[in-house]
Amino acid sequence: MVQNTDLLIVGAGAAGLWAAVAAGRAGLRCLLLERRHRPGLKLLLCGNNRCNLSHVGSAAELQADYGEPVGSFLAPALRLLPPTALRERFAACGLPSKVINERIYPASEKADDVLHCFTDQLRDLEVPLLLNCPARKITPLAKGEGFELQCGKLTLQTRYLLLATGGVSYPKTGSVGDGQRLAAELQHRLEPFRPGLAGIEVSDAWLCPPRNTEVSIPLVRLTILRNGQPLAITEGNLLADRTAVRGSAFLDATRIIGRQQLNEYGLELDLFPEQAAPELAQMLERGWQKTKQAAATLNACGLEHFLAQGLAAKFARLFAGGSFSSELSQALKSISIQVRGIRPLKEAIVTIGGVSLADIKPESMESRLQPGLFFAGEVMDIDGPTGGYNLHAAFATAELAINSICQRLAPAAVRTKAAAAPARRPAGKSSKDKKQAWGKDFWQKRPR
Ligand SMILES: Cc1cc2nc3c(=O)[nH]c(=O)nc-3n(C[C@H](O)[C@H](O)[C@H](O)COP(=O)(O)OP(=O)(O)OC[C@H]3O[C@@H](n4cnc5c(N)ncnc54)[C@H](O)[C@@H]3O)c2cc1C
Repeated sequence: MVQNTDLLIVGAGAAGLWAAVAAGRAGLRCLLLERRHRPGLKLLLCGNNRCNLSHVGSAAELQADYGEPVGSFLAPALRLLPPTALRERFAACGLPSKVINERIYPASEKADDVLHCFTDQLRDLEVPLLLNCPARKITPLAKGEGFELQCGKLTLQTRYLLLATGGVSYPKTGSVGDGQRLAAELQHRLEPFRPGLAGIEVSDAWLCPPRNTEVSIPLVRLTILRNGQPLAITEGNLLADRTAVRGSAFLDATRIIGRQQLNEYGLELDLFPEQAAPELAQMLERGWQKTKQAAATLNACGLEHFLAQGLAAKFARLFAGGSFSSELSQALKSISIQVRGIRPLKEAIVTIGGVSLADIKPESMESRLQPGLFFAGEVMDIDGPTGGYNLHAAFATAELAINSICQRLAPAAVRTKAAAAPARRPAGKSSKDKKQAWGKDFWQKRPR
């Protein structure tokens, strides 16, 4: 049995990796456990392997973007690690970042580099990482002195325990709901799992291209209707293939539908959000004068061939008699979408639901029921829109959890350990400088 560990971190995904590096920096005796044969499998998939790390904005702006109740819960974590601090932290360990349409990516646009940034730090800090080691059971020790954890064939004891086991989507990456089950065994409430940021299946033939083709529109606006009244609006791109419609406007809509637990809802699509109806009517008029054909008119207004053909057929009445009616511009700005369903949770980018926020202290990420047990990342009932918000939430909650654990341990002891954790390995070119910069930043930001 391994004893005298300050901290066990369960799950080497985005949150667990961030936490392990921060803990190593702070000089905590810490072990990182991962059930799969490699760390960070979901991280590698992020942003089509380009890894959209975060989103530009202040802590307050991000808080508003998450929406309630997630925004308020994340507020202390966002204040501790806003996007600027996150970028500085990555830059200090050799991963510069860049901004594309307000989304923050590594400058190389390679998720691989993000993972290596973490694993290089773990190596240099000598933080052990145990692979193929699924946590199976947590037993609180007597008198609140920590926890015993069964994982794989090992039994480990620790003073503090951080669950960072992720949600339940893309289960092949390792996130299968273990952390939620372990938390429930310790009496934590669970919010039901629902797909967030998932494709929407539709019956609209004009929007469903033939097999192996895809249609794309860079900017559309989608209105979610409840009882016929607008409930929310999302904007972004549209990507449709034979199975479903995706793109950020549709993905973000599924998150709102999931969060609001809507069973009955409508979707109304505006294909020309940048033009008011009269302006669009003028564009259509110009197109019509040139082409005198319905599909060609829509094509001239920027819709690709498949969509133009389909919409010309759908709105044939409005093109009747060799002209087009001004009703058409309004119709193109409020097309009712025939929803068949939302793609399953295993395909969703994020899981809505998980360990109830009511059982976790937002100012520390510590359980309200089990002192010494902490949470980070998607294992909790947190989720954000597309654009880097979900990774940011994983990193920021991990940072806050480690910060809180450090404050529990005698500050002098932690500081001594941190000072006694020099670069023992003569690592590559700038490893030592990187670590010092990261460490300095970490300690500067810790409230004392
Ligand atoms: C295809 C795809 C693309 C995405 N792109 C982006 C993006 O560009 N930007 C963005 O912000 N978000 C993106 N996301 C969402 C983002 O990846 C997640 O929100 C984030 O990874 C959550 O981090 P986490 O550490 O909480 O969970 P995860 O990254 O899922 O990590 C959890 C880890 O815990 C391990 N684990 C589980 N159970 C156990 C156990 N019992 N014992 C030990 N280990 C265990 C798992 O194997 C896994 O490694 C994307 C998601 C997907 C699926």
